[in-house]
Amino acid sequence: MSISKGHFITFEGIDGCGKSTQVKMLVETMNNIEKNTILVREPGGTNISEEIREILLHRHLSDISDRTEALLMTGSRAQLTYEIIMPNLIKGKNVVADRFYDSTLAYQGGGRKLNLEWLIKLNHFATYELEPDVTFLVDILPQEASKRKAKEEDRIERAGIDLQSLVRNAYLELSVRFKERFVVIDGHDTIENIHGSILAELRRRNIL
Ligand code: ADP
Repeated sequence: MSISKGHFITFEGIDGCGKSTQVKMLVETMNNIEKNTILVREPGGTNISEEIREILLHRHLSDISDRTEALLMTGSRAQLTYEIIMPNLIKGKNVVADRFYDSTLAYQGGGRKLNLEWLIKLNHFATYELEPDVTFLVDILPQEASKRKAKEEDRIERAGIDLQSLVRNAYLELSVRFKERFVVIDGHDTIENIHGSILAELRRRNIL
């Protein structure tokens, strides 16, 4: 669905791939050139979504079921989409998201093996059928990402390299299935080079 005047850009990848770094740089660059842009992050971003985030990432909560996790993630996304993303896009602002839609497909689909087609339908419902204009997949080997990660890991990050490998493969499959929207970026490159590639791609798509 396209309701918007602003552009909706999402960033995806396994934990530690460098996406938060790139999201912050992009939002800063866009605002510097007067492309009015806000940053959102998942799970979280509204009062309700932050409370759901607490449940999802709580360190001691190991007995959450895979379906509960999927529903909470998409519940958080629904609130963020309704309360923040859609109103801003309608106003003509650009929105850059640190994770969205595809995180559920990669983590709950690829990682936890829930049925992908169901998850796609659940996502459509949660996002009011809003689709990103472009999705940057910052792709990196799980071993490299784990070296970068801080010692204090949250519940999902503690799940380890095997899960991260499943999630990475799922992301790469999504980038083929949704190839119009996906741009795969080599996350092993330097922070500045990655930022440059992202700007170049956005210019190519007439977003910058
Ligand atoms: P994510 O949001 O994907 O989990 P971050 O952006 O928080 O990842 O980056 C994780 C760590 O790796 C941070 O310490 C960050 O400074 C570092 N980092 C980010 N991008 C790169 C890069 N291209 N090369 C080396 N280190 C990086």
